[in-house]
Amino acid sequence: EDISVLMLGFDSTSRLNFMRKLPRAYDYLTKTMGAVVLQGYNIVGDATAGAFIPMLTGHFESELPNVQRKKKNSQFVDVYPLIWKQYKKKGYATLFAEDMPGFAAFNLRLKGFKEQPTDHYMRPFWHAIDEGPTFCYRSVPKHVMMFDYLKEFQLAYESSRPRFGFTFLTQISHDDLNIIELVEQDLLDLLRGMYEGRHLEDTILVVFSDHGPRYGNMRETLQGKMEERLPFMSIVLPDSIKHNHPEVLKNLQSNAEKLSSPFDMYATLADVIGHHDPHLPAPNGPPRAISLFTKIPANRTCQDAGIETHWCACLQWKSIPPEGSVAMNVAQFLVRHINALTEPYTSLCHRLSLLNVTHAEAAEPDDQNGIAYTDVQITIVTTPGQAQFEATVHMTQRLGNNSLTVTSDISRINKYGHQSDCVLDQNPELRKYCFCRTDKH
Ligand SMILES: [Zn+2]
Repeated sequence: EDISVLMLGFDSTSRLNFMRKLPRAYDYLTKTMGAVVLQGYNIVGDATAGAFIPMLTGHFESELPNVQRKKKNSQFVDVYPLIWKQYKKKGYATLFAEDMPGFAAFNLRLKGFKEQPTDHYMRPFWHAIDEGPTFCYRSVPKHVMMFDYLKEFQLAYESSRPRFGFTFLTQISHDDLNIIELVEQDLLDLLRGMYEGRHLEDTILVVFSDHGPRYGNMRETLQGKMEERLPFMSIVLPDSIKHNHPEVLKNLQSNAEKLSSPFDMYATLADVIGHHDPHLPAPNGPPRAISLFTKIPANRTCQDAGIETHWCACLQWKSIPPEGSVAMNVAQFLVRHINALTEPYTSLCHRLSLLNVTHAEAAEPDDQNGIAYTDVQITIVTTPGQAQFEATVHMTQRLGNNSLTVTSDISRINKYGHQSDCVLDQNPELRKYCFCRTDKH
């Protein structure tokens, strides 16, 4: 019979912060419900969209049609091969809910949907009520509205249709590590009600996050950097799967300590409905996406899994002197690179210069096609605006000349707040980099 999937996510919550702040929910999930928590679940891109896109499409954003706002010829997100479309084709009822319309993953930087993407879509509701900074709407906590919406969806279709529900809470955990503890009792009530009420008999429950803390005091520590890369990801299998396919639980448990990623979550969601995506990049070597219901090899590397050096939590880094020539070269290169990105908007954004290098480290030198290279990860502060950036720069040496390239994303590890408001409407891709010439910040 058809297996339903319910996903319940919390923004910016590392595995360890979930354990710290929601210990009773963690216990209930793991001990009573038998959740498997993936300890090697590693992000593959920046921010929420950098998690949702691979998880729901199996692709990097760069592999899909351009859906960025304010870009020429960009399309609506409707063109994305989102996995819920496959669920819908199989007769599933579908739901997509996010609580902060201003921060919505497919709308903040991307163009959003032209047509309603799922049978149940909460965005109009949040637009209709006043999106204030409060955690409640009138007398009801907003997170309770999110929990109820998911639960009512599950119950409404219980006897008629299988379900795919994807609910994601941002407000409660986006800006502060600690506030999420306020949801614990309500989360426990939700889990208990669903589990003890036998409403999850044919349903896989995924409680998860997109990434850990992306900015703030904690993010300035090594611990914070690791936690950003290792979000919470837990999977509860229904008894029907455990009984009929005992190897699935065994494989999932063995994968808990292997390197995994949002691409594997995609393969897992596809596996549930037996969907094989003909558009996925053909593996030239080990597959990038492996269903978590099959065995992930123990010797899997970040490269195998499609995890860029910048995001890989497995690498061994060695500190190098931040004032040394290598670090300074890389830092100056990074500033030039960022200035080049904002170059078309010099009338709006300041040119940045290097204030200092706060941290620098190098990975073991290696070679690719006979060319020696070193990856350097660096944290810098620029002025004006005191932005903190963290980037990984790929350095090859040839004929005595260093050639530098920025690998994948640049992380902005302190809050930009209103610093880049002037560029928001012109090019939201530059929010991380632009320090506006206006004095509104
Ligand atoms: Zn996020």
